[in-house]
Amino acid sequence: MSCKQTTIGAPIRFSGKGLHTGAIVTMEVLPAEADRGIVFRRVDIKGQPEVPALAQFVTDTARGTTIKQGKAKVSTIEHLMASLWTMGVDNAVVEIDAPEVPIMDGSAKAYVAEIARVGIVELEAERRYFEVPEKVTFAIEKRGVEIVVEPAEEYSVDLTADYSSQVVGRQFAHYDKSVDFAAEIAPCRTFVFLHEIELLLRLGLIKGGSVESAIVVVEKPISERSKRHICKVFKKENIEVENGYLNHLELRFPNEIARHKLLDILGDLALLGVRIKGKVTALRPGHLANTQMAARLAKLMASQQGQ
Ligand SMILES: [Zn+2]
Repeated sequence: MSCKQTTIGAPIRFSGKGLHTGAIVTMEVLPAEADRGIVFRRVDIKGQPEVPALAQFVTDTARGTTIKQGKAKVSTIEHLMASLWTMGVDNAVVEIDAPEVPIMDGSAKAYVAEIARVGIVELEAERRYFEVPEKVTFAIEKRGVEIVVEPAEEYSVDLTADYSSQVVGRQFAHYDKSVDFAAEIAPCRTFVFLHEIELLLRLGLIKGGSVESAIVVVEKPISERSKRHICKVFKKENIEVENGYLNHLELRFPNEIARHKLLDILGDLALLGVRIKGKVTALRPGHLANTQMAARLAKLMASQQGQ
């Protein structure tokens, strides 16, 4: 395994819709020098302000992770972060002309394909690691959320997704360096519960475009009227509920939801900015808990360096 820092072999470009605005976003990921880390640059703003992808710059975790420094604000960075970091990219500058990363197909499939195409190049500097010195826990007790990070030679993540949902059930997913991230985790898409979006859809507050690539979980029976409305929103002739999921798309894995949560936490913990030597166990994690844990590890790392 390489102990040198890396960057991508050539610039890569993406364009797609932003989840919130629905506007077309263009994003270019450029090679960068050692110790630059992953940095986002807003090229649509005068002076092209930058924000480093680090836990200390997280300002919002509702429906995605947002970082902000001065005027440079970028949302929904987690799938791109997971792809760069887990594919082995330590340094890159992400130029973007909008306040959010394009949602693509709701997964990281397009990102990993492009990173794999241009490859990775080694830089002179040594890669930096954080050896987790002791057990660190972050919990949100009333929501049954808990993330534990313990000392270990290798980075691994064990994740349990549980929404007290009859449809989703309790799902598990695992990552360590023997797992083929690009094939097994990156293609897993984001998901929503229909009852959470039904009212918003009815009021026209969200458009089909922003959810048509998401897995939709249908916990409660839906009326014919509701079904007709959903067909219209998703621009489909017919949509049925199959085993609790809307059949506008086919699941890529039976536990695609847990695998997607794994994708999210890999992206959020990358906000530590260095590689983690530790074993992560996450129960019902979300962006808030993930980024709080990254911030906690960053603090611990800073206090060690200060000694
Ligand atoms: Zn996600």
